[in-house]
Amino acid sequence: MKSDVQVAIIGGGIVGASVLYWLAKMGWTNTVLLERRELTSGSTWHAAGNTTYFGPYPTMTRLFAGSIRTYLQAEKESGQSVGFHQTGGLRLAATSRELELFHIYKPLYKELNIPFHILSPEEVGALHPLIEANNIFGAAHTPTDGHVDPSGATQALALSAQNLGATVERWRPVEALHRDGENWVLATKKGTVRAKHIVAAASFWTPELLAPLGLNIPLYATEHHELITEEISEIATMEGEVPAMRDSYVSCSVRQEAKGLLVGVYESEPKFWALGGIPKDFKEALFPPNIDRLIPHLNRLTERMPVFKDIGIKTINNGPMCWTPDGLPMLGPVSGQEGLWLASGFNVGIGTGGGSGEFLAHWMTQGHPMFELKAVHANRFGNEITTETALASIRKVYARGYQLPDSI
Ligand SMILES: Cc1cc2nc3c(=O)[nH]c(=O)nc-3n(C[C@H](O)[C@H](O)[C@H](O)COP(=O)(O)OP(=O)(O)OC[C@H]3O[C@@H](n4cnc5c(N)ncnc54)[C@H](O)[C@@H]3O)c2cc1C
Repeated sequence: MKSDVQVAIIGGGIVGASVLYWLAKMGWTNTVLLERRELTSGSTWHAAGNTTYFGPYPTMTRLFAGSIRTYLQAEKESGQSVGFHQTGGLRLAATSRELELFHIYKPLYKELNIPFHILSPEEVGALHPLIEANNIFGAAHTPTDGHVDPSGATQALALSAQNLGATVERWRPVEALHRDGENWVLATKKGTVRAKHIVAAASFWTPELLAPLGLNIPLYATEHHELITEEISEIATMEGEVPAMRDSYVSCSVRQEAKGLLVGVYESEPKFWALGGIPKDFKEALFPPNIDRLIPHLNRLTERMPVFKDIGIKTINNGPMCWTPDGLPMLGPVSGQEGLWLASGFNVGIGTGGGSGEFLAHWMTQGHPMFELKAVHANRFGNEITTETALASIRKVYARGYQLPDSI
């Protein structure tokens, strides 16, 4: 058991595992990841695994692109499948402005060497026969993205990192932490860990973990629904998979799951969870579904995909999702707290976790980020932000769903 390390990572979801992996790839292997329960036991285990290249914030696209690359690399190195399905993705243009924005984004994707095509409504209909394409203005098509198995990807990252010399300690919650001279000291029931650097990758647990240091980290959890349909005959008889679809009008993402569809819903009014603190006994639990909240979205989805009139819903998962006031993660060093790094606040942690691990590990090992991405810096909200302000901001961001910002 390592008790004196260069880096201790707190939290073994996809983000913590990715940071551990990339630190090891960059040569830092005197590291330990401390996880409260099993790996993935926060939000990662129930995620849909969508890993698009199309970021609502094009500046984030490098993190999206780095993620699929990271998972496939870890799969190759570890032999653990990450279950990547390269279905491609369609971002529908529900308005003419969205179509204009796709044209504005296009050069960025060229710069990053990511295939990005703008399709006419007819081309969309040909690629995805379940979409009623008459009412759209076209779509952005990213043919090389898709979805992964989040648990498989986390295990592949952890396994590869361990093969390089990193350590993973499951069932080892960090109960308290403080700074002692040049080190951080982490208290656990199985003994103390001293570390030069610590990375808080504990998602919506991070605020409580760091509050004793006087830090006010504005992360809050919302409930988030995904639905899985029964088999759809059109899909069952199709060769290959339909591309994933995202649409600001329905505020849903829809991808193929086996021979049916999986729908992720961004409701207009988010429902917060555990505002008084994460329950101490919270395990790998889901919340009861609330169909009434989903109905307006499903009605609009039926306009886009008439097949929804006739199909049954097989499963509904409603799980906790972590949010920052602007919807972007908190990634980087915390000012005034030497050796403390944040990798928390991910609401698309499968889509961006792989690339974010690389981004943070580069910053830690080289002393500077691999590219400038001020949008994610850990100190951007300040320490004075109130809960009221943070929640009001999250409400707006969540309700925006797949609507695009009007400028890059
Ligand atoms: C229904 C649903 C569908 C989703 N679908 C997608 C999707 O398709 N694509 C996508 O990108 N995202 C999706 N998400 C979001 C995604 O699940 C999260 O963004 C991602 O899993 C966050 O990963 P994480 O590593 O930051 O956090 P988590 O997976 O929550 O991991 C945090 C870990 O920290 C551990 N921990 C906490 N406190 C301590 C402590 N004191 N000591 C040690 N360990 C501790 C926890 O046990 C946990 O394992 C979905 C979310 C929901 C709810």
